[in-house]
Amino acid sequence: MTPAFLGLGAIGRPMAARVAAAFPNLTVWNRTASRASDFAAEHKVRAAANPADAVKDADVVVTCLPTSKDVESLLDGPTGLLAGLKKGAILVDCTSGDPATSRRIASRLAERGVDFIDAPVSGGTSGAEKGTLTVMVGGTQQLLDRALPIIKSFGQKIVLCGPVGSGDALKAVNNAMLAIHVWTTAEGLATLAKAGVDPKIALDVINTSSGRSNTSMNLFPERVLTRAFPRTFRLALLDKDIGIAAQVARENKVATPVTQLVADLFTMARGELGEVADHVEAVKVVEQWAGVEIS
Ligand code: NDP
Repeated sequence: MTPAFLGLGAIGRPMAARVAAAFPNLTVWNRTASRASDFAAEHKVRAAANPADAVKDADVVVTCLPTSKDVESLLDGPTGLLAGLKKGAILVDCTSGDPATSRRIASRLAERGVDFIDAPVSGGTSGAEKGTLTVMVGGTQQLLDRALPIIKSFGQKIVLCGPVGSGDALKAVNNAMLAIHVWTTAEGLATLAKAGVDPKIALDVINTSSGRSNTSMNLFPERVLTRAFPRTFRLALLDKDIGIAAQVARENKVATPVTQLVADLFTMARGELGEVADHVEAVKVVEQWAGVEIS
């Protein structure tokens, strides 16, 4: 099996490192070429000059870019994916994408005899490093089975969710729930801090009570109370994900007022904090409004 990996960002890079460890014949490509050549030197794999060159020998191609539109933008042109992909290859898109664009990409690839599954991941950059990501797949069991040896190098729980676009939809809803947890945990702790309760005591109690979540149990103790706010997952990407969840809800005529509101709050936080801020830094907006620090 010959893999290629395109997109060596915060999570793509450690995922590609797992693939490189299992498949030394990996080829990588990244828009900023120095990132690909540094990776290639470190992991002793080939760095390609462009997407077509990256995929020319590959039977399984993994992409991990910010949005489905970014993946779609790589399809065309003399050095694009369509110019390079072999008939019978499969594109595994690990981008947290949007279902409609994934379906469009799948049908364009199908015209060339190339298969597609959406396969967004959860588990963060630490899960990528350990190879313990959850992978949510949209496609068919047969296509998933074909790509499984590559997906297994970075994924632990690998679940077929339904037809193409299903993985994207599930990922977006999961991340909308994450955003809601981040925002409401910040509101709750800011309120308690102002009411005279030490946030450390508040979290200690909440984390053995019914208001707890991964956000309260892990993100707040490790990133907010410490004021560390490590930049592992950009707020801009979470804003994109909630927008997808809100869009999927509208398309399916499901009333989701809380999701729509949190989508707006994160768009506003993105405007305030910029493109490189981490998603947990949204807490700083709540703190600023409340005039209190959660520490
Ligand atoms: P980053 O912003 O860290 O990296 C993005 C990567 O995509 C970079 O390699 C960048 O290249 C490349 N890129 C951006 N735009 C384009 C484009 N138009 N054409 C070609 N390449 C492009 O993102 P992450 O790695 O954090 O996220 C990637 C995907 O994974 C996103 O969909 C995100 O939502 C999802 N995800 C991220 C998680 C995380 O913890 N970080 C967790 C789970 C999912 P360059 O080096 O040139 O900038």
